[in-house]
Order: sequence, then structure tokens, then C-alpha cells
Amino acid sequence: MAAIETYGARYEGDALFIEGVSLHSVAAQFGTPTYVYSKAALTAAYGRLDAAVSQARAGRSYTLCYAVKANSNLAILNLLTKLGAGFDIVSGGELQRVLRAGGQANKVVFSGLGKTRDEIAMALQAGIKCFNVESEPELERLSEVASALKVKAPVSLRVNPDVDAKTHPYISTGLKNNKFGIAFDRARSVYQRAATLPGISIAGVDCHIGSQLTDASPLVEAMQKIVSLADDLANDGIQLHHICPGGGVGITYTSEPQIDLVRYANALQQALGNRAVELLLEPGRAIVGNAGVLLTKVEYVKLGANKNFLIVDAAMNDLIRPALYQAHHEIVEVQRTQTQQRKEFDVVGPVCESSDVLGYSRQLGATEGELLAVLSAGAYGFVMSSNYNTRPRAAEVMIDGVKATIVRDRETVQGLVSGEYLLD
Ligand SMILES: *Cc1c(COP(=O)(O)O)cnc(C)c1O
Repeated sequence: MAAIETYGARYEGDALFIEGVSLHSVAAQFGTPTYVYSKAALTAAYGRLDAAVSQARAGRSYTLCYAVKANSNLAILNLLTKLGAGFDIVSGGELQRVLRAGGQANKVVFSGLGKTRDEIAMALQAGIKCFNVESEPELERLSEVASALKVKAPVSLRVNPDVDAKTHPYISTGLKNNKFGIAFDRARSVYQRAATLPGISIAGVDCHIGSQLTDASPLVEAMQKIVSLADDLANDGIQLHHICPGGGVGITYTSEPQIDLVRYANALQQALGNRAVELLLEPGRAIVGNAGVLLTKVEYVKLGANKNFLIVDAAMNDLIRPALYQAHHEIVEVQRTQTQQRKEFDVVGPVCESSDVLGYSRQLGATEGELLAVLSAGAYGFVMSSNYNTRPRAAEVMIDGVKATIVRDRETVQGLVSGEYLLD
């Protein structure tokens, strides 16, 4: 694995800290399992991308629309609002979160292929920046709902540039046979149709080819394709206000190379040249992924003839990425031990599924009652958690310097059953 600092953490002596707070004290104060975020790591990750894009744009306009689905905690959305972010949402619920967190509707773009009439009306009333339209029927519906409200829906077509993101098939979204987006070769005629619809105003073009990319070239290739589409549209008399190549910049989970953000931003700018359009990006994972860990306690050490297990109090319901995508998360001891005290363990949760494994074949020295930190858990962690096995979802804590603040209470079983009723 990479140096522990890569993950926004560090050892003081042998105890693991996030900023100025030891994870032992977080567990003592808030219990486990708990998601622990670093305000400094989050701010730094946002700042790196923002600085790269700002420099490449050299005074031209751009907005980083953080993909809310990566981590939608209100404290995180509020922090990003203060840093100047816009937001990319995929549901009416996410819009309400953004507004509650103080985000500006006019910096919100709305992606997602199943927008309901109610969600569309809510977003129009809030005055969002743009709808990223994923199909022709959606375009017709948008025009209808907007016309009924006597407004125009600003739209961008999410086109499918048919570029292979070369990432896990479950997080690859830019190929032809994918459910997302409008086929590239149909885009021009769909824009023509959009131009005739009474409730539509054309604002931009968008794509998103996949997630956890470790090489920028597919992202740049997709950008070149949508820029050339924008040129074709200009020839057809349709001027765009913005161009958005989506999100997808990966993070280091183990040893994956990191996309060089300066080169990436410069390549996007080179594709745009002097066209008078705003650049939008929709980064999710790159902002929050390595700003969070999942803190968990060892319940049992189960030694076997062929395999040893550390049975911990976090499970696939808390962090589903390993089970869902065969994702690898580094797992480290909160109290560091000597190498010779370590054994090989599968780190597993208590859920009744064989796929409930947080990490296979890890060298760890933890004993019962000790703490482990599952790294790189800030993105697609808590947000994908469930209550499977009637497990209340974890608490979320944000560290800022020497201060640890609860930003979401641990759920209770009482709360879980509160909306359930017996027959008379
Ligand atoms: C999920 C998603 C993103 C963010 O993807 P990351 O890989 O987390 O950067 C951006 N845009 C759209 C449309 C998405 O669905």
C-alpha cells in the first residue's frame, strides 16, 4: 500500500490519527462502526482540482459540480458550498440536501435517467442551472412539465461518446450498450428536436464515461468528441453555454496511479481552445474518496486450519464496495503492531452472506476489542449503506484539527422500526 499520509491519516507513535484526533478517542466517544472524515483532506482534494482547472482556464469560466451521490452528508455539502462548489445531483432528494446545506440552486446540474415529473417540477421551481437529459422521452417530458409551469427547462444532452473507460464494468458508463445517455450519432438530431420544443432552452452538452479512471486519456478523448459535437451544433445554429466531460477521476486505493490533475485540466482546456463556453466538471470520488475511513472494532479472532478470520463490527451493509465491485480497500491497525506479530486474515463482517468480506488475506496483528481502519471509504461508502440484517447505519464524524464533530447520529433499532405497523 501507499504511505499512510496518502489517505489523510498518520501514526503518532503507534496510534493512528486523522488530523489531530486519535481514532482510539473517536471510538471511545462515538462507538463503532463509524465513518470518520477529515475536513483538511477534503478541502485539500477540492483545492487541488480547483487550482488545476483554474490555472488551465486562465480567467475563463468554470464550475466544479461535486457529484452528491459520492457522499451526501450535509456537513460535507456545506463545506463544499463554502469552497465554491456547484453540485451534480441524481434525485430530488439530493436537491433538497443541497439546498438544506446552503448550496445555490443556480449551480446545480441534474443527472440521472429516471427523473420523475415531481422531481422535474421541484428542480424547475428551485431554478437549477441545467438538466442533463438522458433520453428523448425525458426531453419531451421536461418540455411538458416546464410549459405547464410557464418556464423553460435549461438542458444539456448527456451523450454517450462510446469511449471505453477501461474500468470495472459496473462503473463503466460510456459504451454503446449502456443504459446511460443518448447515442452519439443521434445527438445532433435530438438537439434539433430540442430546439423546437416550447419548454426547452438548450444550455450545454454533457457526458460521463465511468468512474475510478486512473488514466486521463479516455476522459480527454470523450471531451474531444463532445467539443466537436458542439462545433457541429454551432454550424446548425445551436450555441451552447457550457461543456461538461463529467466526473470519473480515480483515487489511489492501493497502488493505482493518480491522474495528473494539471495535465488533465490542461488537456481539457486544449480541447476547448478559445470557444466561449463555460467548463463544468462533475467530480465525486476524487473529492471525498480519500478523505474518509471506516473505523471498526474486532469482535472475534477466529483461527482455522486453512484460514483465519477477523470478525469485525462493520459489514457489507456499511461498506458494500468490496462485495459489489470486488473493490480493494486497505485495512490498517489503529494501534500498530510489529510485523512478526501479524498473521494473515480475511476481515469479515457479521452479515449472513459469504460475500460479506471487507478484505481478503490481510497481514494484521489485531486482537479482540482492537480497532481497524478501512481506508479510502469517503466515497460511495456511507451513502450505499443499508439496514440489511437490521443493522442500524453507522455514525459519521468529521475531524477538523483537534476537534471531532458528529455529523450524523448512529441509527437506532427503535428508529429503524418506527415506520412499521402490525395488522389490527
Ligand atoms: C457518479 C457520477 C459522477 C461522479 O463520478 P466520480 O467517478 O465519483 O467522479 C459524475 N457524473 C455523473 C453523471 C455521475 O453519475
